Amino acid sequence: MIFRIRIALEGDEARCAELLGILFSQEHEFTPNAETQSRGLSIIIRNPELGRIFVGEIDGVIEGMVMLLFTVSTFLGQKVALLEDMVVAPAWRGKGLGTLLINHAVDFARSEGFGRITLLTDRDNNTAQQFYRSQGFAKSEMVVFRKLLDDGTTLKKSESCTWMCRECGYLYDPAEGDPEGGIKACTLFAEVSGQWSCPVCFASKSDFDPFS
Ligand code: FE
Repeated sequence: MIFRIRIALEGDEARCAELLGILFSQEHEFTPNAETQSRGLSIIIRNPELGRIFVGEIDGVIEGMVMLLFTVSTFLGQKVALLEDMVVAPAWRGKGLGTLLINHAVDFARSEGFGRITLLTDRDNNTAQQFYRSQGFAKSEMVVFRKLLDDGTTLKKSESCTWMCRECGYLYDPAEGDPEGGIKACTLFAEVSGQWSCPVCFASKSDFDPFS
């Protein structure tokens, strides 16, 4: 078995978009769309001043990826990077490819004079958080805010919409929450604990889809 990390090239978009599809279907906020992801990947691959995508190959097949997007910190007076889209194909998790990818990205950033790497991960994804801690990343006290400037097609409408249980049709309304289930009114579905289950049929949170 041969592991190899290299920079993504034109032609790698489709496989990378497939991997992002796996990643985004795990994340609460994003719905995958291969065409959109390929377009984004292509922008970075063709404009190396924006960032760098690294792919991890096993026996010549891309089984993982990570990217660094470049920006500047006036606080540090240095270039800094955002680490995005870290994903390893499920069959290859826990076998060291993720560590190789992160190490490669960190070594690259250090050697290019970057002062810091920042990343975002799901609040309740303990596996990912543990992984990043083991790679020397520490949780920031900063809070993430953002404003979408498009029509929202890339983001699930999880900010305010209702979610429907696939098993029984029960609707979770963020305005009402589920007080009997321990979820206060005005709790977005994304903020509902992963342990929560449908109050009607006890299906798990992952059995809900955005409804409106
Ligand atoms: Fe249900």
